[in-house]
Amino acid sequence: MSTQTLSYAIDEHDHLIRVDEGYYAFAAENGWEEAPTSLGRSLWDYVAGHEMVKLQRLLVRRIRNDVGDVELPFRCDAPSVRREMKIRIVARPGGRVVLFSAWMRSEETRDLPQLLLDPATLRSDEVLEMCGWCDRFEVDGEWVEVEEAAKRLELFRRSELPALDHGICPQCSGQLLAA
Ligand SMILES: [Zn+2]
Repeated sequence: MSTQTLSYAIDEHDHLIRVDEGYYAFAAENGWEEAPTSLGRSLWDYVAGHEMVKLQRLLVRRIRNDVGDVELPFRCDAPSVRREMKIRIVARPGGRVVLFSAWMRSEETRDLPQLLLDPATLRSDEVLEMCGWCDRFEVDGEWVEVEEAAKRLELFRRSELPALDHGICPQCSGQLLAA
């Protein structure tokens, strides 16, 4: 396990004005092809799902206006690793610039790579809801980890996996609103 950190900052229009080496390294590791052109782009271009964008915008607005500083746990899984991260979001006093810094608290290699998390996997018309904050999936009204979702949906027997719809689970939604 290695400790990894990354940080980025946005201006008053929510455009990325600064990203560090850790950001580029993490992006490369995760195959984000658009990472090299991140500067000047809107932060919201990088957040998947309507609801998640809405909630995070609200959070950023509250941090700018009165909260000032929050720290939240979040997940950033890859097909073969489970990553628990923490993100700290800080507004500069008196300014509109917001700084995000994230660091990994733990990383666990999965026994089996989870194809459900692989963007290269073939997808069917079926849609599976995924929480963009904790990386859990909704199966039969319950939010479960990717391994459990794969088991319940018998994904190992299928040639195509369901498409992912990025939303937010009630637990994370509550956490972001309470921050
Ligand atoms: Zn969640």
